[in-house]
Amino acid sequence: MLLKQIKKFLPSQEVTMKRALFPGSFDPITLGHYDIIKRGIKLFDEVVVAIGINAEKNYMFSLEERKAFIEKSFENEPKVKVVTYKGLTIDFCREIDAQFILRGLRNPADFEFEKAIAHTNRRLSKIETVFLLTAADTSYISSSIVRDVIRNNGDYTVLVPKTVVVK
Ligand code: ADP
Repeated sequence: MLLKQIKKFLPSQEVTMKRALFPGSFDPITLGHYDIIKRGIKLFDEVVVAIGINAEKNYMFSLEERKAFIEKSFENEPKVKVVTYKGLTIDFCREIDAQFILRGLRNPADFEFEKAIAHTNRRLSKIETVFLLTAADTSYISSSIVRDVIRNNGDYTVLVPKTVVVK
């Protein structure tokens, strides 16, 4: 009702859904990713977690497993969607009408790397990248460290959501 009233007064563009794409490998999803997604849904109407398919990368978990881990973590959160994509992230943003890319920043190395990508994406499109600083208690976590812990039979469960299960 309220939305209908607002729509009357605004051009349609201004009431479109704010959708952010959160791209990554998520091999596997960690508590750091989880924190960024949780905080992202407070800022956007929808957060689309997008698992990039890169034929040249060797993954520990299959695409299906990685997708299921994230879906199960957010099964009670309708604002989170999980998809897979190939190709340029900005092209996929256009395809699903996402106006924003969401990324987490852990440290200066992340910043330098992300800065170049965000500038490039901005040069090639109108899509804005929104950065969230990682929570202090998960900023040290990376999927590659989690994979190392798993390979060496360590207790990976303290670093990932409960839905990540190694068979
Ligand atoms: P890739 O490195 O393949 O882009 P990742 O799955 O490692 O994908 O990361 C996806 C996004 O999640 C990136 O923005 C990254 O900075 C962020 N991220 C990774 N680990 C953490 C963490 N511990 N806390 C917050 N954000 C994180």
